[in-house]
Amino acid sequence: MAFYKDLNVVRYDVLGPGYENLLPPDTSVPLDGIYRCESCGGEVVMRRGELLPDEHKSERACSTNDMKWRLIVRSEGH
Ligand SMILES: [Zn+2]
Repeated sequence: MAFYKDLNVVRYDVLGPGYENLLPPDTSVPLDGIYRCESCGGEVVMRRGELLPDEHKSERACSTNDMKWRLIVRSEGH
């Protein structure tokens, strides 16, 4: 789960790009942000151009074959 405390520094991204895409491991991410594994709920923080991991810590185990990453929080990365 991703968390925040100050609503003044985050914004609902109604037209933001990329939230619907499911990305497999070893994909170069197009946007800075937090990505969530759809299989187990684990999260990773990524910078644009980095490769999504094929293993990660999480409370529930998931296999590389099941792993699909989805952008959940985008950062403008300034
Ligand atoms: Zn996972």
